[in-house]
Amino acid sequence: SRDFDDDNDPGRVRVAVRLRPRNAEDLLSDADFADCVELQPELKRLKLRKNNWSSESYKFDEVFTGTASQKRVYEVVAKPVVESVLSGYNGTVMAYGQTGTGKTFTLGRLGKDDASERGIMVRALEDIVANVSLASDTVEISYLQCFNFIIQLYMESIQDLLAPEKTNITINEDPKTGEVSLPGAVTVKVQDLDHFLELLQIGEGNRHAANTKLNTESSRSHAILMVYIRRSVPEKVEDDINSQDRKTKSKLPLVRKSKLLIVDLAGSERLDKSGSEGLLLEEAKFINLSLTSLGKCINALAENSPHIPTRDSKLTRLLRDSFGGSARTSLIITIGPSSRHHAETTSTIMFGQRAM
Ligand code: ADP
Ligand code: MG
Repeated sequence: SRDFDDDNDPGRVRVAVRLRPRNAEDLLSDADFADCVELQPELKRLKLRKNNWSSESYKFDEVFTGTASQKRVYEVVAKPVVESVLSGYNGTVMAYGQTGTGKTFTLGRLGKDDASERGIMVRALEDIVANVSLASDTVEISYLQCFNFIIQLYMESIQDLLAPEKTNITINEDPKTGEVSLPGAVTVKVQDLDHFLELLQIGEGNRHAANTKLNTESSRSHAILMVYIRRSVPEKVEDDINSQDRKTKSKLPLVRKSKLLIVDLAGSERLDKSGSEGLLLEEAKFINLSLTSLGKCINALAENSPHIPTRDSKLTRLLRDSFGGSARTSLIITIGPSSRHHAETTSTIMFGQRAM
């Protein structure tokens, strides 16, 4: 059966759904406490209420209720990706959902006062730092945000969150290897977990974006943490079939490169609820455009299509060598319980279903 841990098809996108607990606003406005979803975690199923009389049931790779701990979410969704990255493959963990449903809580929470609240970024780095040898291996990070906006033309721009004056980072793709890199972005060698927490906090401070009525946090841009790992691999000489080719390379330590992307996607909500106006409205439209382009790539992967249309947005160009193929990808879709957001919740669930 399908499972986050299965190794049969590393390139497929594993999809988990996480329900945010009811918040004060939900309690105030939902007089009848009517939730629009019902979770069946033991079946890994979610029932979405269509109206008072019927509901539709959907299967996911995992279903997290409002009481699921950060630790458990990390271990199920992200740890297999981190382990794969530690053994030399690229990987991506993404969160998709309406603003206010817990994307940043799930991925970016620092948990400075309470380590049990730490999100996936911090736990991933903790695992990585614990498993590499900082004497011979290196761990570096870049932290970026990808904006969508309009100045006469539709634009997408990538800003360096560790050097916010750099607002137009370019994406380079090696024509031979397909390796994606960001030559202009700052990369910082991570010394230890405290150092990483400091960097994340600096990045978060720099992550200024237009707010919406739904939330006062940055919700209109994608935040992208890139973790580059370089490990020196002791050379195997023994019974190597190609040992003749190796004469020239002998004695040189082999270096194995891999990277982990953790992507806190822009809010997936439609405009009418966010109350956006003017330019912001245009921005919101195009944020949806890059999410749409991500959706197309994810669908193509799910259908084993030979062509993954990554050219359509910077977001998907960035992801090109880190999802599908030999790369491992986990997608967490986040939803709220309230019937007020039935339309957004439905479209989020459909996005997740199309990825499977
Ligand atoms: P998003 O990034 O999707 O806009 P946030 O992560 O900022 O949403 O979450 C919105 C609010 O809900 C925050 O105050 C956050 O702490 C809270 N929250 C989200 N998910 C959970 C959860 N699983 N448990 C408790 N609080 C949560
Ligand atoms: Mg957020």
